[in-house]
Amino acid sequence: MERGADGLDARLIDAVERLGDAGRAMLRDAAKREGLSVTQAQLLLRVTSPSAGPQSTGSFARWLEVSAPTVSDAAAALVRKGLLEAVPDVTETRRSAWVPTGPGREAAERLRGWRDPLAAGLSAASPEDRATALRVLLEAVASLHRTGRITVARTCLTCRFLRHEHPDGPAGEWCGLMAAPLGAADLRVDCPEHEPAHEPAQRP
Ligand code: SF4
Repeated sequence: MERGADGLDARLIDAVERLGDAGRAMLRDAAKREGLSVTQAQLLLRVTSPSAGPQSTGSFARWLEVSAPTVSDAAAALVRKGLLEAVPDVTETRRSAWVPTGPGREAAERLRGWRDPLAAGLSAASPEDRATALRVLLEAVASLHRTGRITVARTCLTCRFLRHEHPDGPAGEWCGLMAAPLGAADLRVDCPEHEPAHEPAQRP
């Protein structure tokens, strides 16, 4: 099949763009139903994500690709709405931290429903096709991370623990930290154990 600007690559980028547009619209609608801005909804989802762990304002800002004051404003609004609770600093580097309240967790659960129509669409593809798609998308994420277009990418393909061969011989990629094979379907998108293989380039 044809590749290049007018070929397969362009159509792949068009498809990713359409999915991004649709995803943003669905998240916006879900946020509106909860009386939240999109940034407030994204922050609440991130704070309640099991893979996020304790994070600083700066970490949230880098993950959401927004400024630290934007995160602070969104967090203050969520505290006012009773969805987050401010907790004392637990490290010297973290100036503020938040934990979700019960209603905050319930709101986050409802917000996560924005992904359901996408999941339903993906379920029509075979496991092999979905694994290949995951690999291709993570290659694109890694490339954007290397060139500074994505600040945070906690994926296997950007991780210093990724091994391309196991020392004892079996073929295929491995996680050196967990000593476990990484098939295409096992690659992680947001791994709590991730450590970057390199610092991202400056945003161009
Ligand atoms: S630590 Fe996590 S991100 Fe890194 S290679 Fe292992 S599973 Fe992947």
